[in-house]
Amino acid sequence: MSETFTSVSQEEAGFRERTRLSFDLDADICVIGAGLAGLSIALEAARLGASVAVLEGRHVGWNASGNQLGTVMPGFALPLTDLIERIGFEDAGELWSLSKEGAEFVRANATEENMPGIGLTDGVLEVSNVDAGDRLISRLQMLNEDFDTEAEGWQVDRVREALKTDRYFHGVYYPKAFQVDGRKYVHGLAALARRAGARIFEDTPVVSIDHSGIRKRIVTPSARLRAGHIVLAGNIHLGAPLRRLSETLLPVWRYAGITAPLGERLHEIIGFKGSVMDSDGVDHFRIVEGDRLMWESPETTWAARPQRFAGGVKRRIRSIFPQLGNVEISEMFGGVTGQTVHGMPQIGQLRKGLWVASGFGRQGMNTSALAGQLIARSILWGDERWKLFSPFELVWAGGLTGRVAGQLVGMWGRASSAAAGSLARYRERARVKDREREARLAEANRAAGTGPRHQPSGVRPRTAPPAAPEAVEPVAQETIQETAQETDQEQGVAQ
Ligand SMILES: Cc1cc2nc3c(=O)[nH]c(=O)nc-3n(C[C@H](O)[C@H](O)[C@H](O)COP(=O)(O)OP(=O)(O)OC[C@H]3O[C@@H](n4cnc5c(N)ncnc54)[C@H](O)[C@@H]3O)c2cc1C
Repeated sequence: MSETFTSVSQEEAGFRERTRLSFDLDADICVIGAGLAGLSIALEAARLGASVAVLEGRHVGWNASGNQLGTVMPGFALPLTDLIERIGFEDAGELWSLSKEGAEFVRANATEENMPGIGLTDGVLEVSNVDAGDRLISRLQMLNEDFDTEAEGWQVDRVREALKTDRYFHGVYYPKAFQVDGRKYVHGLAALARRAGARIFEDTPVVSIDHSGIRKRIVTPSARLRAGHIVLAGNIHLGAPLRRLSETLLPVWRYAGITAPLGERLHEIIGFKGSVMDSDGVDHFRIVEGDRLMWESPETTWAARPQRFAGGVKRRIRSIFPQLGNVEISEMFGGVTGQTVHGMPQIGQLRKGLWVASGFGRQGMNTSALAGQLIARSILWGDERWKLFSPFELVWAGGLTGRVAGQLVGMWGRASSAAAGSLARYRERARVKDREREARLAEANRAAGTGPRHQPSGVRPRTAPPAAPEAVEPVAQETIQETAQETDQEQGVAQ
């Protein structure tokens, strides 16, 4: 059976035969799981000269890693301010730098030469659902000055010039963040790892491990493996080899859809070429294949067929860009991410020679790459920087109760974000109306000869008072309820 790499597209087309582990083997490092995490570790370790065997229960990129959008940002799922609060400014700065190194690892691998058709493009825009200019400015200062990350603040007008919707207010543009074809990247990574000498065995689930000795033992249904190091990179599916580890992750299934071609009008409505994500983590989208929209939105804490969420994606698109009308969804995909209780990935050594790389949540591209670099370099070079993750211990995710709570928190988060968005938009409309009323009043005063010309200097014409919050509330509540219902209905589709 040949393991020779020809091209990623051939692999994707399924021309490469899968190799199952059918004979006993010895390796320096055994990686369990061929997702982004496992393959990043395998690639880096093989490049550094280790003999590496990757054991994958299904096939390369079977889960989230092969069904994701490919947006690569610096940072972690845990917001930067929370990270600083938790571990202090200095350590947060070091972790942030590592997260940028992870992104650079992806950039260096995802060249057209290495991965034909990977389509790397620069620039990601994060938009706010609420009018939060002040918060944005302090965040920008922190990113630019303290965390050495290029970020540009976009005023509301500029955001709305690029995205024709009143849903979004300010934005942060990251010129050095980028995107690749997410579903191709994991196969490209596997190809690079093979080229570097790693051996990848698919249809080879690990059923148990014995990590007590210097040489660890790994058992699969058809063969055994012995290795000096085991890396657990199985995400929420790890199961039998170390069930307690899987239980520290809250599984969150995420889904995305691709529309049918939408023609030129798509570019008139969405002028931004890179990925767009809102700051509440509800929507994440970009234009693909010229005139299609790829849109990620719903999430659940139980498994379901992605196709079930086509209606939900469609409604999200319509609520943000009503001008697009009732778009047709031609493809749905999704996978399950492992979320930790504290929001940071699990990267490090559990006991001598037993490593963990999981819990990457919704931001797995750069963080799994960083895990690959840290773990491989620690095993081979003694680099100890993975210890920066030590404050983020393995915390039980709460089992079934945790999942139910997670779903409720997710629904509440979406509803409250929708409500905050409605309120912000209502206030904006109220401000516009106020300005119009002022102009009309000034005009009427002028016509009646009581305008500013006839007033003593320093006296301003009387205008209607700005909308007080009490006056806003009743209408805003209605809008909030409507939007919350809309959100509930979407979640209902998910059930
Ligand atoms: C719809 C969607 C969109 C996303 N978009 C983005 C994005 O734009 N940017 C971003 O940064 N992140 C994104 N993510 C998140 C990202 O995909 C994940 O964080 C990342 O793929 C997790 O990688 P992993 O290797 O830890 O897990 P997985 O992809 O789950 O891989 C683990 C592998 O281990 C195998 N395995 C498990 N147990 C065993 C065992 N006992 N024996 C053998 N094999 C085993 C599994 O079969 C699986 O293939 C997205 C996720 C989804 C679902």
